Amino acid sequence: MRIPVIAGNWKMHKTISESLDYLEAFRTVGEKNGVETVLCGPFLTLPALVEGTENSSIGIGAQNMHWEEQGAFTGEVSPSMLRDLGVPYVIVGHSERRTLFGETDESVRNKVRAALAHDLVPILCVGETIEEREDGRTQEIVRKQTVEAVQELSSKEMARVIVAYEPVWAIGTGRSATAEDAQDVVAFIRRILADQFDQQVANQVRILYGGSVKPANIDELLQMDDIDGALVGGASLDPESFGQLVDAAA
Ligand code: PEP
Repeated sequence: MRIPVIAGNWKMHKTISESLDYLEAFRTVGEKNGVETVLCGPFLTLPALVEGTENSSIGIGAQNMHWEEQGAFTGEVSPSMLRDLGVPYVIVGHSERRTLFGETDESVRNKVRAALAHDLVPILCVGETIEEREDGRTQEIVRKQTVEAVQELSSKEMARVIVAYEPVWAIGTGRSATAEDAQDVVAFIRRILADQFDQQVANQVRILYGGSVKPANIDELLQMDDIDGALVGGASLDPESFGQLVDAAA
């Protein structure tokens, strides 16, 4: 039995006071048994979010981090800094970081390993662009990104990773993948994990879909056998909508 995960990625939205207002509204609708609910705010909001969710089942995540412990890396935040704050999750390899900030498969691999070494749960994002999909290269791209990110992990470490299949063309566009297309790729990722590790690990890993998930399409996505939840951008910004998504997974 895989526990479903609904994770919100606020991206570069919300000040500290807006985050606290959100939490107040969300806590009444967003706490559901049987769903791992995660809110990934901008770095500056994390202390307030951690404090505001004490004694709640809502987990807080960062949207990125560096893999080194400390050093001359101006503007970066380390895994131990997140751990020290009590942040349990971190998004790694989001397509916006890959495209806009030059994140490579190698840096994604370093971040996944560093997160696990610091007892953080990495939410590893993989997914193809529209050109790659139209060229029939979805599986090739998803395989490469997945294998490169997880190849050095032990089975025990892999079982703690959450993978998010996020087709780049579906992120923030309002154009979600169909539930069937999402299921096909998510099942493909599970087969990759079975090849790289074993079937038991593949069965344990939570694999989410992300890309224009909203209350109107969450049900059909969650009905798919291999989809264990969602990584949500736009619809996580509103506590009501995000609460409906958590409800759908409960
Ligand atoms: C995301 O940022 O990971 C995402 C899936 O965004 P959206 O839900 O807005 O498409």
